[in-house]
Amino acid sequence: MRSALSGALIYAIVGGLWILFSDQALSLLVADTKAYQELQTYKGWFYVVVTSLLLFMLLSRAVKKTQTLLQIDPLTYLPRHFQFSLALDKILKSLPHGSSLIMMDIDINNFSKINESKGHEFADKVLLTLANKLKNEFRDGALIGRLGADNFGIAVSHHEHSDSFDVYASRVFNALKRVSDKLDYPVQASIGIAIAPGDGKRSRELITRATAALQNLKGKGEGLFGYFSRELSTQLQRRQLIVHALRQPDCFSRFSLVYQPQYNALSKQVCGVEVLCRWHHPELGPVSPAEFIPVAEEIGVSGRISDWVIRQAYKELSDSDCLAVLPRVSVNISATEFNDELQLQALTRLFTHYSHFARYCQLEITETAALENPRANSQLLMALKALGLRFSIDDFGTGYTSLAMLQNLPIDEIKIDRAFVNSVEADTSTRRIVMSIIDIAANFGVNSVAEGVETDSQLKVLQETQCAEVQGYLLCHPLTIEQLKVRLKAERTQNAEVLSVNAPR
Ligand code: C2E
Ligand code: MG
Ligand code: MG
Repeated sequence: MRSALSGALIYAIVGGLWILFSDQALSLLVADTKAYQELQTYKGWFYVVVTSLLLFMLLSRAVKKTQTLLQIDPLTYLPRHFQFSLALDKILKSLPHGSSLIMMDIDINNFSKINESKGHEFADKVLLTLANKLKNEFRDGALIGRLGADNFGIAVSHHEHSDSFDVYASRVFNALKRVSDKLDYPVQASIGIAIAPGDGKRSRELITRATAALQNLKGKGEGLFGYFSRELSTQLQRRQLIVHALRQPDCFSRFSLVYQPQYNALSKQVCGVEVLCRWHHPELGPVSPAEFIPVAEEIGVSGRISDWVIRQAYKELSDSDCLAVLPRVSVNISATEFNDELQLQALTRLFTHYSHFARYCQLEITETAALENPRANSQLLMALKALGLRFSIDDFGTGYTSLAMLQNLPIDEIKIDRAFVNSVEADTSTRRIVMSIIDIAANFGVNSVAEGVETDSQLKVLQETQCAEVQGYLLCHPLTIEQLKVRLKAERTQNAEVLSVNAPR
C-alpha cells in the first residue's frame, strides 16, 4: 500500500512538472507558431507512450507477483496444488518408455491437534522443517509440492528394474524422523501412493488416486503407507456416488424407516423398538446404513439424517397409533454428533419441540468415533436428560471408549454387540465377556440388551446369564410401520390370551 502511494506521488510530481515546464521549454526552443503546434502534438504522444509503458511495467509486475503468490506457498516456497499439477503433467508427458513415476500424497497425522496444543507458530515450524527435510531427502530431481494445509505431494521417477517402491515411503519416514528429532516433538504422517503409467497418465488422475490410497488408510493408524488398487478405485467411485447423493437437498425422498422390536428375555414381551433407516440410492439401489452413515459422519450430514429420522419416526409411530402401546423407542445417533456442541444444541431444540416424543426416546450412541469430551457438553446432555430422553451405548465393547462412556455419560442401557452374541454358545471366552458386560450393566444399575440373537440356543444362554432384553432375527426382523402395527396387535392379543389362561379362576 505504501509503495503504491509513493509511486502515485512520484507520478503526480513528475506529471505536474512536465505540464508546468515542458510548454515553457518548447516556446524557448521554437519561435515559429506552426512548428510549435506540431511539436506540442508530438509532446502529447510522447507523454502517452511513456505513461503507457510505465503502466504496463507496473501492472505486469503486480500480476506476476500475485501469480507467484498463488502458485508458490509463501511458507515453504514449494509449488501449490495447481503449479504442482502442471509440473507433474510435464514430467508425465516426457516419462521414458518402461519407466514409472511414483506419486505420493503425504498427510501429517493429527495436524489440527498440533495446531491446537502447540500453537500456529510451532505448526508452521513443523511444515517448514518437513518441507526442508523432504527437499534434502529427495534431492535427486523429485517434484515436491504443498498440496493442502497439512498435505505434501512428491512425484519421483523410477527407472530401475526392481518393482519395490516401498523405498520411497521409507525416505519420507526418514525425513519425518529428522523433523521429530529436530523439534523434539513426534511428527508422523500417512502416505497414499499411486504409480504412473498404470494408475494414470495425467496429473489429475494420479493425484486423485494417491489421495484415494491415503483415504483408505484413515482410521487404520498412524505412520502407514498404502498403494492405490483397482478395488480401491471401485470403492472410491461408489463412495463418490454416495457422497453426491447425500448432499442433494431432496435425498430424504429415498429414505425410509424400519422398526425392530426388542423383547424381555424371559417373558418375551415387547419392551421397545429400535428405529433403523433404509436408503435406496438412485443408482446403487439399497445401501446399508452401516456403509452410508460413516460417510455421512465424515461429510458432516449425519445430524441432518438424525433430524429426519426423529421427525419421520414420530410421524409414523403416532399416525399408526403404535406410540400409544410402545414403552420405548430407540434412535441411533453417531458419537460425532455428541462431540459437536452445535449438533447437540440442534438435537435439544428438536426434542424440546417434540417433548411428548422425547419421553419415549432413547438415544443409542454408536461408537463410530471416540466420544471426545462428554464433560464439556454435560449441560446439553443434562438438558436432553431433563426432557426425558435416555441414553444407550450401542455395540458395547467394540468401539472406542465404552468404559469411559459409562463414567462420563448418564447411561441407561448397554447393548451387547452382535459379534459377541454370535459366538456366545460356542466360545467360552466370548461367554465370559458377555457375562462381564451384563455384570457391568447390573453394577451400574442400567439395562442390558443383547442384539443379533438368531438361534434358540443363543437365547437360552442369554437367559441363563440374566441378560434383561434381547433383539434379533429369532424374535423379529426389522419391520415397516404397517408390519409393526400388525405385529404389535398380534402380540397384544397373544399376551391377553396367555393372561386369561393363567388367570386364577
Ligand atoms: P445397530 O444400531 O447395531 O443396529 C443393528 C443392526 O443389526 C441393524 O442393521 C439390524 O438390521 C441388524 N440386525 C438386527 N438383528 C439381527 C440379527 O439377528 N442378525 C443380523 N445379522 N443382523 C441383525 P442395519 O439396519 O443394517 O444397521 C446397521 C447399523 O447402521 C446400525 O447398527 C447403526 O449403527 C447404523 N444405523 C442404522 N440406522 C441408523 C440411523 O438412523 N442413524 C444412525 N446414526 N445410524 C444408524
Ligand atoms: Mg443401534
Ligand atoms: Mg448395535
